[in-house]
Amino acid sequence: MLIETDLTGLPVLLIGPAGAIGAAERRYRRAGAVVDVVDAPDAVTPEVCARAALAVLVGPASTWHEARTALTGRCPVVTEPSGEPRRGRVVLVGAGPGGLELLTVAAVRALAEADVVLTDRLAAVGDLAALAPGAEVVDVGKRPGHHAVPQPQIQRLLVERALAGLTVVRLKGGDPYVFGRGGEEVAAAVEAGLPVTVVPGISSAVAVPGSAGIPVTHRDVSHVFTVVSGHVPLDARQAAALVALEGTLVVLMGMHNLVPITTELVRAGLPGDTAAAVVERGFTPDQRSIVGTVSTLPDLVSRAGAASPSVIVVGDVVEQSAVWTRRVDGVAGRTERMVVA
Ligand code: SAH
Repeated sequence: MLIETDLTGLPVLLIGPAGAIGAAERRYRRAGAVVDVVDAPDAVTPEVCARAALAVLVGPASTWHEARTALTGRCPVVTEPSGEPRRGRVVLVGAGPGGLELLTVAAVRALAEADVVLTDRLAAVGDLAALAPGAEVVDVGKRPGHHAVPQPQIQRLLVERALAGLTVVRLKGGDPYVFGRGGEEVAAAVEAGLPVTVVPGISSAVAVPGSAGIPVTHRDVSHVFTVVSGHVPLDARQAAALVALEGTLVVLMGMHNLVPITTELVRAGLPGDTAAAVVERGFTPDQRSIVGTVSTLPDLVSRAGAASPSVIVVGDVVEQSAVWTRRVDGVAGRTERMVVA
């Protein structure tokens, strides 16, 4: 339950068993209340009551009787609905390709309601503490020793916290269903009988080329775009199929395979002078574009020392872009560092 009323400065006394009170406490604090907590009915002393403008009884009704008696005539009393344990839920949220402005309104709302946020490296939305006040934030992209938390463990964490009655937001870079293992996380939550909502996000596959002025489709130039993972190199059959489409190819997670990917495309018949670009660290102050052809790109990238996260774009649409025009003019953008062929 989200508290819609502004309770700024209101002294609120929360009474209930320690296990049940945490989430309620976060909600009241978020609404601005000055919260005092007692976890046993016999701790409801006259002094404690005197400080409160409002008392909230949390947890099973059987534990409330004594506290209610102690509070009678002292301040208004409300009870948390039903006294049943709160039902937890999972919200898979796409964070977009970076920055606060590319979060959706639905994503902002989901974060505001979260008790727990599981986030990772590419979900760079800025100040999570402000977006999800009071929530426990777990960075599953990093743990001591700098390794990511393994996927089964992320899913366990997600399910465990939600089964404990908490609203768990799983925040993922871009869109959760684009190479984000979102499907697996939804399946784990569904299997545990938990309600799941998915909030789509702006995918880097389209937005990062766009941020460099590269349209993934363009009338009379390309009416198809294919997004592939470059996590493993393309095989000859895949390369041939992609070249036959005569469209735009967008490769995510492909920087460590840039040489085999471009080589395989040319071997499959793609002209070596086809325009190609790498857009590195999109939507950050360090964003830069490396622009060349499918033949020259690997060398340009290695000379520039460009690395992940980057989106690779291959196809004539690159020539429609501002970065290509600047390549021709030899002029670098003001906000973008460029490496040109
Ligand atoms: N679900 C994400 C993609 C996850 S795969 C989405 O929809 O955007 C991770 C890859 O996405 C990275 O290796 C990189 O290729 C790309 N990527 C994500 N954010 C990026 C950014 N800000 N700049 C450049 N590439 C990015």
